[in-house]
Amino acid sequence: MPILEARNVSFGYGHGTPFEKQAVVDVSLSVEKGECVSVIGHTGSGKSTLMQLLNGLLKPETGSVLLDSEDINKNRKTCAAAKFRVGLCFQYPEYQLFGETCEKDIAFGPKNMGLPAEEIRQRVAFASKIVGLEEEKLSESPFDLSGGQKRRCAIAGVIAMQPEVLILDEPTAGLDPAGRSSVLQMIGSYREQTGAAVIIVTHSMEIACEISDRVFVLNHGELAYSGTPREIFSHSAELLEMGLDVPVFTKTVLELRKRGYGLPDVYSRAEAVSSILTLLKGGKEA
Ligand code: ADP
Repeated sequence: MPILEARNVSFGYGHGTPFEKQAVVDVSLSVEKGECVSVIGHTGSGKSTLMQLLNGLLKPETGSVLLDSEDINKNRKTCAAAKFRVGLCFQYPEYQLFGETCEKDIAFGPKNMGLPAEEIRQRVAFASKIVGLEEEKLSESPFDLSGGQKRRCAIAGVIAMQPEVLILDEPTAGLDPAGRSSVLQMIGSYREQTGAAVIIVTHSMEIACEISDRVFVLNHGELAYSGTPREIFSHSAELLEMGLDVPVFTKTVLELRKRGYGLPDVYSRAEAVSSILTLLKGGKEA
């Protein structure tokens, strides 16, 4: 059963001006309860706009967004609730830290939800634990944290609202490989412990296919492809043409194919190595 659904959603900016731009065009997609999906697309393909439509920050010009089968834009109450139930963590969220202490920063969302003090305290503790922010850091200023810890603190602020759908826009942008895997781990841990659905926005097909059950590909505001990582990998040549960053092993296989070598679709480094080895051995099993 879908927790979140976009039905024929469209949205544009600057109508009636020379800068008019249709950012999202007739997009329909759904996310099941507890599912992890990724949305990939080149810069300007409409990913951020779509995410803001999914949590009610923007209102679709046509179509609707359903949260647990109810239109989030039905009335002011459903629209306000959607902003907590669908938690949106923007790109480089650490730039939006503002609290005097990490604790106050993380507590901002739950406070706005009007929760009692004890519940807020529990949520701050839960969120800090998920992101691995030590207790002694909670009384410190977020501005004294390291870059990686700032990112954790900012993500904890969204997790503290305990959203049923957690949306993260490029959560690993600017992080080194260790930081990247720790952020992906904490997202997985939130999902496991709460049963929430997760939507990851990324321009990296490798990250998308590594962690998601399904992948949606946006191109010029339209949904170009959707499917399991394996299905998405079978469109690698088209994705490359769309300007998407496909993994090096995929590029290698596509290049070898162009040069006349009969290689199958691969969707992991291991599969690529195995089929290239088979080819080198004259077609015998690697
Ligand atoms: P992405 O997240 O994939 O980079 P966006 O949703 O940010 O894509 O942008 C989609 C299109 O809408 C782009 O052409 C962008 O320039 C335009 N756009 C985004 N935000 C605004 C805005 N506030 N005003 C005008 N145009 C915008």
